[in-house]
Amino acid sequence: MTTAQTQQPTERQAEARETFDSLNPATDEVVGTYPVHTAEDVEAAVARARTAAGWWNDLGFAGRAERLRRWKGVLARRLAQLCQVVHEETGKPHADAQLEAVLAIEHIAWAAKHARKVLGSQRRSPGLLLSNQVATVEYQPLGVVGVIGPWNYPVYTPLGSVSYALAAGNAVVFKPSEYTPGVGRWLVDAFREVVPEHPVLQLVTGFGATGAALVRSGVDKIAFTGSAATGKKIMAAAAETLTPVLIEGGGKDPVLVDEDADLEAAADATVWGAFSNSGQTCVGVERVYVHEKVYDEFVAKVVARAEEVRPGSHPGAHYGPVTMPAQLDVIRRHITDALTRGGRALVGGKNAVGDRYVQPTVLVDVPEDSVAVREETFGPTVTIGKVADMDEAVEKANDSTYGLGSTVFAKRRAMELARRLRTGQTAINAPLSFAGIASLPFGGVGDSGFGRIHGPEGLREFARPKAIARQRFAAPLKLTTFSRTEKTDALVAKLTAILHGKR
Ligand code: NAD
Repeated sequence: MTTAQTQQPTERQAEARETFDSLNPATDEVVGTYPVHTAEDVEAAVARARTAAGWWNDLGFAGRAERLRRWKGVLARRLAQLCQVVHEETGKPHADAQLEAVLAIEHIAWAAKHARKVLGSQRRSPGLLLSNQVATVEYQPLGVVGVIGPWNYPVYTPLGSVSYALAAGNAVVFKPSEYTPGVGRWLVDAFREVVPEHPVLQLVTGFGATGAALVRSGVDKIAFTGSAATGKKIMAAAAETLTPVLIEGGGKDPVLVDEDADLEAAADATVWGAFSNSGQTCVGVERVYVHEKVYDEFVAKVVARAEEVRPGSHPGAHYGPVTMPAQLDVIRRHITDALTRGGRALVGGKNAVGDRYVQPTVLVDVPEDSVAVREETFGPTVTIGKVADMDEAVEKANDSTYGLGSTVFAKRRAMELARRLRTGQTAINAPLSFAGIASLPFGGVGDSGFGRIHGPEGLREFARPKAIARQRFAAPLKLTTFSRTEKTDALVAKLTAILHGKR
């Protein structure tokens, strides 16, 4: 299936004007060429989506669930092909591409299966005074949702919004990252195979300007996943039209290791959480706070494991290149700042950052105000700090503008510590487990954003509650009329005193 075969007319027009190349970050080889969609192209896509949205909504929960199930079937059957596109555009190993695709398939399945239960009409109590009414609430689709995605998990991350928005009855216009347009193209083409009637899910490609045009296009909501800096721009632009936004921003996720933790498991999770996907994971491990009683033993275990981790593009490599070349400078700056301010590299360090690959880097004794501790590094590095007790660990973990995910390794105090962490989600005694549980909501606090994808909350994020009060019979007490009597008012006052006036 070539790109040209699957393009829509407006996309071909745009291609005649301007295109951009998608490169393999391991080789710089061009793996695809895509149109830079203009504001007019985006508006046209949104206009088509409006018509499609009505048709899609009319299919009802069962009809949509059926199509979504077929879509996930295509993804599951052609998993290897999809993973190849992800591998070429991001550089990540096939197995990692497969992991994110499998989780995305789980989410499509969950959203399709649960949409009716979560969003369908539900009865509510009308209360005593209005007991002549039937009160119901149902969650109706918003209409057209614009989804703007990042490159680091180009299947799992945007589908966390796309699948839930579709299951809720919306049409979607999807703008993938300029680093992974081919993955976006593949997903949208697969959807079109199972929903050929109307453009319910469309693709627009390009850079930030195309995303900005989508924000201003009159969509009913923008679901954005990317950096906090871009999130702020999107929110400011969306404010002009009061377009609601869901912001899934970055993170600086901490791991807490208590004195009674399973240190083998904690070290393994730290190394995988920090280095897998070349550290380019929004909920990747960037900081660790360890109880002083187990600090030395934990650090030794992390170092031993980290020394075995190998980046590269060869079979068996643990992670690939840094996908976005500009990130190399950020990673280098963070390591340098940590080292010049008293930090020590136990693995990797000063020369860890190469032309494409970054060696795993374990930093200790890094001051808390170093950029390596405060800013999102988005590279295969981790800082490990020693704490006197877990209260200090919680305080340091929470001292961040970000609040996306967190992990606790502990026995006795695990739940308490998890509750006290100011993050949208916390995994206990396993890395990133929340991300694979489709029924759990996912989202951030502070600079990590707001709103939730996944689970019932993720479905409701793409719907508006519609309240309906239907009168079953005329009320014995007529309250909302000018012919209300003094006797009625007196009775209401008496009833209220009985119902609510107890001391
Ligand atoms: P980015 O902010 O640079 O870009 C994200 C998307 O926004 C891209 O599609 C880009 O073209 C578009 N964009 C850029 N400027 C825009 C503008 N002015 N208006 C509208 N759209 C615009 O982020 P990135 O580098 O692609 O992704 C990495 C970031 O994403 C990291 O910070 C990471 O933590 C975060 N992330 C968060 C989650 C999450 O679920 N919270 C998941 C994955 C990645």
